[in-house]
Parts: sequence; structure tokens; C-alpha cells
Amino acid sequence: MKQAGADIFRAGLWKPRTSPHSFRGVGETGIAWLVEAQETFGLPVATEVAIPEHLSLCVKAGIRNLWIGARTTANPFMVQQLADALQALDNETKSSICMMVKNPINPDLDTWCGAIERIRKAGISNIVAIHRGFSDSLALTGNTMRNDALWSIPLSLHRLMPDILLVNDPSHLTGDRQLVGRLSQQALDLGFEGLMIEVHPEPDKALSDAKQQLSIEEAQALLRSLVYPSGIDKGGAALSALRRQIDEIDDSIWRLIEERQRVSAEIGELKHKAGMTIYQEERFREILSARLSWARQRGISEDAVNRIVNALHEISINMQLKK
Ligand code: PEP
Ligand code: MN
Repeated sequence: MKQAGADIFRAGLWKPRTSPHSFRGVGETGIAWLVEAQETFGLPVATEVAIPEHLSLCVKAGIRNLWIGARTTANPFMVQQLADALQALDNETKSSICMMVKNPINPDLDTWCGAIERIRKAGISNIVAIHRGFSDSLALTGNTMRNDALWSIPLSLHRLMPDILLVNDPSHLTGDRQLVGRLSQQALDLGFEGLMIEVHPEPDKALSDAKQQLSIEEAQALLRSLVYPSGIDKGGAALSALRRQIDEIDDSIWRLIEERQRVSAEIGELKHKAGMTIYQEERFREILSARLSWARQRGISEDAVNRIVNALHEISINMQLKK
């Protein structure tokens, strides 16, 4: 990503829409428009491909930046069909293509990695992972955006595949133009290497996802305001000292979790002997609501506490299930 500028112009021609009554994109007609934009502004263009036919139309027209959408990534059959079509291209064309693979709609790291591997095996080396968030139940995570960031998933992907450029799509992640700026900066602060942002000359008139489109002026202002931190460790002695404190706190937490597991196993034995179910809903409700009100009083994120309580409970249940 150029600082305060764009490297690629994105426009979806074939739009995967939830409802068959929504605008589905202009399709093949738009290819000529994209090619004209590419030639006029000297800015490479990108569009979404879901089936081999899309891919072959784009490649023939000289559109070399292509993305696989979240719904397609979730389906290995479809990704494999695209991979087979890529495999069949000549080497020169393959080396000129950049495939961007959006995360699958469900929070499934393996499926995301699998899709990237299929594309890589087809002979494409220029691959970008796009994090657009995950459909998730509001009740479970307290997420209020269109999708849930679940940052640990893209960060794990980066750890597993460090050569794959990681880009964030704050437009589809938030679904809300008011939040796009904040999420863009959060992504850069986490070390993401680029942003895919939806922009429209008249956002409210957009035929798709109007609520998340920025106006051109808003996009320019956003790009100017972003700060690009460095991934290099420049914290010095002060940072090392604080990290040692964290290590000590974590040691205590792990010791307590170990202790908790031991007690939980004893409880499991007792329940078994007494002929009780392992899951006691009343008890879980009590623990959860006590912890949530504790979080509220102390100004600690209720969402984080909710996740931790659920994780601890999951560990306990698994301890108590007979193997
Ligand atoms: C898009 O980028 O236009 C799109 C449909 O996104 P996603 O596949 O992330 O929903
Ligand atoms: Mn969209």
C-alpha cells in the first residue's frame, strides 16, 4: 500500500449477494470499463472471481489482480475449480497474476490456509490474504459490527504463512463507514500490510453495501490520517522490563488454571458418583453473570470476560467427560 494513496482499484463485477433480489453486479459488461480505467489511470484493477469463466474472461482482458470472495473460499470444490483453471494457464500469465484470498465467512483458519495452498499449488506465487472478518453469533462474542474481527485468526495465518501479504478489508468487516477509519488504523497497528477499502462517489446511492462506502473525500482524508507503525522491536529496556512483569503474571495465571483443572476433575468424579449431568446450567449462569458484573464494575471488557469464562468452562467440561 502506498502511503496516502492506492496501488490497486477494486470493483466487483459479479457480486455474491445474500438475496436473489439484490443487485448482482453488471457482470461481463464491466470488464471493458475496468480495462478502460486501468489504461486511463495507469492503476491496476482488481475484481472478484468465483468460477473459472470469470477467471478466463478477466485473464483474456488483461485483468491480473483477482480476489476470491469469502463465500467462495469457504467451499473447497469452488476453490479447486479456480485453482485448476489457474494451473492450465501458461507460466508467463501465471507469474503476472496476483490472487487475493479472502477469509472464509466462518472462523476456520484451516479452510483459509487450504484455499491459499490450492492456489499456490496451481503455480501462483503472488498471493495476498484478505481479512474481512467472520460471520459470528452476536450472543456468543458480543460483536456489534457486520462481521467479527477475531484478529487471532489472521495473525495465526501470518505466523503459519509469513510470505503471504496480509491485508485488511475494514469495509466488509465493519459494514459501517463510521467505523472504517478506526478499524483501518487498528489493522495497521497490528502489522497488517495493506487495506482494501470500498469508496463510492455518492456512497448513499451505491447499489451494493451502501452503508460501508466512503466518499472520495473521506477516503482521501482517511489515507492521509493513517499512521504506519514499524514491525521492528524498538521498545528497549522499558519494554523488556514490562514483558518480564507480564511473564510473571502469566505464570501465576497458568498455575491457577492447573489448580482449577485439578479441582474440576474432582468435581467431575463427584457428579458422576451422584448421578448428575456434567453441565449444570444454573451454576454456569451464576458464574457467568457474577463475572460479567465484576467486569462492568472494573471497566474490563465484558466481551473478553465472556470469552474467557466460556473457554474455562469448555476446559472443565472436557476434563469431566469420560474418555
Ligand atoms: C466484496 O469484496 O465485494 C465482497 C463481496 O466481499 P466478501 O467476499 O468479503 O463478502
Ligand atoms: Mn461489497
